[in-house]
Amino acid sequence: MAKIEVLDSHTIDKIAAGEVIERPASIVKELVENAIDAKATAITIEIKEGGISFIRISDNGCGIEPDDLPVAVRRHATSKIKDATDLEKIITLGFRGEALAAISSVSKVRIMTKRPEDDFGTLLTSEFGKVTDVVESGGRNGTTIIVEELFSNVPARRKFLKKDATEAMAIISAVEKQALSRPDISISVISDSVQKFRTPGDGKIMSVIRAIFGKDFTSKLAEVRSMTEGIEVNGYIGLPENVRPNRNFQIFFINGRYIRSKTVCAALEQAFDSYLESSKFPCGILYIYIHPAFVDVNVHPTKLEVKFSNDRSIFDAVYCAVKNALLNHRMDPDIDIQLQPKHVTPEKYDAVNAFVPIYDRIVSEGKPKTEQKSIFENLGSEV
Ligand code: ADP
Ligand code: MG
Repeated sequence: MAKIEVLDSHTIDKIAAGEVIERPASIVKELVENAIDAKATAITIEIKEGGISFIRISDNGCGIEPDDLPVAVRRHATSKIKDATDLEKIITLGFRGEALAAISSVSKVRIMTKRPEDDFGTLLTSEFGKVTDVVESGGRNGTTIIVEELFSNVPARRKFLKKDATEAMAIISAVEKQALSRPDISISVISDSVQKFRTPGDGKIMSVIRAIFGKDFTSKLAEVRSMTEGIEVNGYIGLPENVRPNRNFQIFFINGRYIRSKTVCAALEQAFDSYLESSKFPCGILYIYIHPAFVDVNVHPTKLEVKFSNDRSIFDAVYCAVKNALLNHRMDPDIDIQLQPKHVTPEKYDAVNAFVPIYDRIVSEGKPKTEQKSIFENLGSEV
């Protein structure tokens, strides 16, 4: 064995970058999250060659203060928390202060930013982790970040990238989920000069679904809207004639965050059971709201799989919501369905019930649930 050495900071940064940034889609996801945290109402994502040669994300958000810009690309630099006590009440998507540092350590980055209150903006240029220039610039309000030559200083990682078309698909799919989670923001994706979709930002989930999946898909949906025992399930399912050969159209959100969940997937599929051929999978775009205390917060933010402390209750809530949506949409007298699965007992919900007033308050705001931004915004002070 060679002698043990403490790594220099440049090497540490490069290793850390690998954890946050695996491929172009992770960069796009992080940068769109930053734009959302900056309260942008319009975000444009442009990519070339699957994002490997070029990514440009423009937003009309709050911008970055000139003095702060060089700090933003340093590791553990964030404006979203000040200390550990803030970790308890995070309402932004980011807080680790890693993304810009990680991205800039493995690519050439230009950040142009201007706050509405400033006369001039700032342009920062950085090459593979080193800031090469910071100058005053013109430009419009908001922030534009250009990322080029991704991983050209980490050939091993670059080798693992897939074909351009596959990387582009991963980007588009990641942004679709972000657009579905924020119907109030207009999000546009352009890949190799072709517009893939553009959502209107009118706050309606249906408008986002239409923009992404098209008119035909949208015309074969049933609405899901249910609130049982403190668990709210909203969204849309595909009608039984709108089923697919894979699970690509099963998209779930918990408290506004896109997740993967075997529990939710199983509940959706079992609710469809009598309607399905075995080789087909139902479509469902479902928004589940539950008090955050019941979602495992220890799950790493970049991991999509979540754990629930009350798995069974989530299963039941989704199962019943989907069953109801199917039943209400087409009444078939031959179908014998138990709407309350037998393992649902009032005791099971005791803990969850404690939070029902929160939902009452949200419902009393009078907005249809499916058009709300994110329950986090409403729960922020409670959590
Ligand atoms: P985090 O999002 O975890 O704070 P990032 O490295 O992604 O860390 O970003 C660092 C900081 O840069 C953010 O905290 C924010 O202050 C600023 N920032 C990044 N992107 C934008 C943006 N699009 N608009 C405004 N500020 C931004
Ligand atoms: Mg971030």
